[in-house]
Amino acid sequence: MSGRPFLQIPGPTNVPDRILRAMDRPVIDHRGPEFAALTRAILPGLRAVFGTRDGAVVIYPASGTGAWEAALVNVLAPGERVLAFNHGHFSDLFARTARNLGFAVDEVPLRWGQELPPAEVEARLAADRGPRRYAAVLAVHNETSTGVTSDIGAIRAAIDRAGHDALLIVDTVSSLASIEFRFDEWRVDVALTGSQKGLMLPPGLGIVCAGPRALARAEQGGSPRNFFDWRPIVRDNAAGFFPYTPATLLLFGLREALRMLVEEEGLDAVYARHRWLAEGVRTAVAAWGLGILCEQPAHYSNTLTAVVMPDGVDSDTVIRTARERFGLSLGVGLGRLKGRVLRIGHLGALNELEVLATLGGVELALSACGVALELGSGVAACQRRFARPAVAAGAAGAGQVAAR
Ligand code: PLP
Repeated sequence: MSGRPFLQIPGPTNVPDRILRAMDRPVIDHRGPEFAALTRAILPGLRAVFGTRDGAVVIYPASGTGAWEAALVNVLAPGERVLAFNHGHFSDLFARTARNLGFAVDEVPLRWGQELPPAEVEARLAADRGPRRYAAVLAVHNETSTGVTSDIGAIRAAIDRAGHDALLIVDTVSSLASIEFRFDEWRVDVALTGSQKGLMLPPGLGIVCAGPRALARAEQGGSPRNFFDWRPIVRDNAAGFFPYTPATLLLFGLREALRMLVEEEGLDAVYARHRWLAEGVRTAVAAWGLGILCEQPAHYSNTLTAVVMPDGVDSDTVIRTARERFGLSLGVGLGRLKGRVLRIGHLGALNELEVLATLGGVELALSACGVALELGSGVAACQRRFARPAVAAGAAGAGQVAAR
């Protein structure tokens, strides 16, 4: 198919040409001075993205799944109790990872489409008065399977109200660098992400941010670990190096991504752009007469929208049609949502015209699969929305900022 393919899954996201060019270069010696300067340029930018001044950022050649493991084994000892919530495929897998690693996980079932309820967190922790108290609470900031963003500040407040000292471990895989995250202000103990979503890089990096309490726990205990032990990494990073061979070229890409996000566009404008584009997508979904899986508008995700299929329509068929007929990749329904939703990714390097083209493709595919909608209705509704003056600071520049 001529022209560029449309990758509108909720990650991996499109990699801007600037970042591709930054990685298109000879591999350098990872024990030389040029590499040390690269590491030192990257870490402050990553701290800004996490919203931390003093937290330690640790970069692994891994994916989000590796970052889950790193976050857990550094701070939890085998058998320690963990409170987890199941409100989507990834919160389920996060809890399963913890179980597989030998922690005692209490997994609270919630509705898929529901946010993480602070009251439930508070009640569970307030009732936790036994001798073996929870060592950690696991939370997913943005549940990529359902398109639901939870309020991590409210979860921190709930933990405080319960007077509990469990660590707060937060998955920000599909939110970081797209939806505001405030590591220090929310007193998050460990946050984790991957390179392939808001950071606009190819897959290949798992990134963890550890606060003071987590760093102290890792010094005293944690689990038996080797590759994911962050202590030697933090130590060597201080001089600009890694205790193993790092993913050199991805780090050049990361430096470029941080320039774009932090120095040029600015994080507030990045968040505003994601909100603006997400609102455009949601306006289109409403015009089609289809539902959004996320139950509460206050928790709609600004990085993806999970669109519920009408009775009798299999989302896998719609997604296959979009891919084969129009070269448009959309996210499938995961786990128990298989066939029931399609997920439109609207994160990373993206602008208004790309959103409109994506919506045009989704509309065509839905229509081809028998969904009764008027062609053009979603695109027009989104256009009308984008034609209005952008209310949020920075959103008006959405066309330029994500330029490839
Ligand atoms: N957590 C969330 C919220 C995700 O969306 C994903 C992947 O999409 C993961 C964890 C797992 O990350 P990876 O696929 O990079 O291992």
